[in-house]
Amino acid sequence: MEMNEQSETGPFVWTNDEVEVNVPFSAAGVSTVIILTSSFTGKMMLLDVGDGALRDLLEKGSIQFVHDLDLIAITHGHFDHMGGIHSLLGFLRMMKRSEKMHILLPVDCIEAIEAIRGFRNAYKETLPFGFWYHELTDRSGFDTDFFKVKAFEVEHFGMENATDQDLLMPALGYRVRVGDTTIAYTGDTRICAGAEEVVKEADLAIIEATRKNTPPPERRVHLSEEEAYDLGKLAKEFMVVHRIPEVKK
Ligand SMILES: [Zn+2]
Repeated sequence: MEMNEQSETGPFVWTNDEVEVNVPFSAAGVSTVIILTSSFTGKMMLLDVGDGALRDLLEKGSIQFVHDLDLIAITHGHFDHMGGIHSLLGFLRMMKRSEKMHILLPVDCIEAIEAIRGFRNAYKETLPFGFWYHELTDRSGFDTDFFKVKAFEVEHFGMENATDQDLLMPALGYRVRVGDTTIAYTGDTRICAGAEEVVKEADLAIIEATRKNTPPPERRVHLSEEEAYDLGKLAKEFMVVHRIPEVKK
């Protein structure tokens, strides 16, 4: 096991003999990208595909991801979790990927669905690879030959900035099995039963910790660091991501 925390925004790396977990970058309101790579097959899965996902994959130093990327799971429709999908699909098309691919997202996740449909409509005559999106609900699963995924509904508010109305949005956390290893990712959430189920007894839990302090109870969009560390105790090991980036004034 190797943990690497030079910066609040990553990169963070965790490995065992079955899987490498690489978080090249994660910052609240900017982007989160998590790359799982199977040690045995080299197959890759993305958990969220924020802005810069393509650049982050390229910076791993090999173009092989064009063929080895097997699955993408998007936690919710906020731009910092799915804004990189169009660029990534465009690159795969340009490089003439031929392998099929699946994208998982929460049921009714309109932002991600529209981005994917828009890409498909623009290039439907000239797509060298087939890809499908699947709308997951609480406790539904999706398996490929390489990654076994189970989704859990979490509680994350959506429109609070734009309209000042707090509305729960479609949001999922994921548990992913690679061999006998379970990687858990909360996505964005407040403390809720779903978030606890996602991380429970995982070999590695990746937990958002947006807030330095715990906000008043009526305004619980995200986890605080304290809540994230409490949640992390339910897993065998954990790392925190999705900090608010420090900006020089
Ligand atoms: Zn969010």
